[in-house]
Amino acid sequence: MRRRIIAGNWKMNKTRDEAVDLVGDLKESLADVGDVGDVEVVVCPPFTALDAVREALRGSNIEIGAQNMHWEDEGAFTGEISPLMLKNLGCVYVILGHSERRTYFGETDESVNRKVKSAMSNGLLPIVCVGETLEEREAGKTEAVVVRQTKAALAGVKTNGAERIVMAYEPVWAIGTGRTASADEANRVIRIIRQAVAEVFNERIAQEVRIQYGGSVKPQNIADFLGQPEIDGALVGGASLDAASFAAIVKPR
Ligand code: PEP
Repeated sequence: MRRRIIAGNWKMNKTRDEAVDLVGDLKESLADVGDVGDVEVVVCPPFTALDAVREALRGSNIEIGAQNMHWEDEGAFTGEISPLMLKNLGCVYVILGHSERRTYFGETDESVNRKVKSAMSNGLLPIVCVGETLEEREAGKTEAVVVRQTKAALAGVKTNGAERIVMAYEPVWAIGTGRTASADEANRVIRIIRQAVAEVFNERIAQEVRIQYGGSVKPQNIADFLGQPEIDGALVGGASLDAASFAAIVKPR
């Protein structure tokens, strides 16, 4: 049985002080969720707020993740953040290959793969994002794109521990647009992603790996996605910036 995982991607939002306020409210709203135990909750603030958010979350079951990292442990990479630095701040997860990174910052299947391998060898759990653009979707390439991205991201990753990797299916056209894939369609594509994971590792690992849906998830539509057998949670952007709406997405109904 895969444990659900709901992660909030705050993107480039919230100053340190705003971040502390937000998690203070979240902690209160979600105080009972740890006892229920059937959902893992992660927040991914900007780098500048990670330390303060970790402090503010002490005593809660909410974990922290980063939104990106470099693959090297240290060195002359001005402006970059290493896995060691994230680990040292208490990060458990790191989002890798988000479509905004691929689109605006030139990330490729190859750089995502380097980062995934580095995260795994440094004890950080990657949330690996894959998904097709609208153009690719309209050209009937959704399956080919998610299979290519999944296999490329996971290539050469050690099988030992690979079941802890999290995948996120995020159709690019659904991110921040208010449009979503239908729950059926998301379930279908996620099954294909799971099959690709099985081809890289094996069937056991593919059945254990959690695969989220992401793209305009809101309190109003989360139940549809979670009602699908292949969907193990959500990666939430905009709606994670408000404590009440993120809590409504997380709380088991
Ligand atoms: C995201 O950025 O990963 C995302 C899914 O954003 P939103 O929920 O705002 O569509």
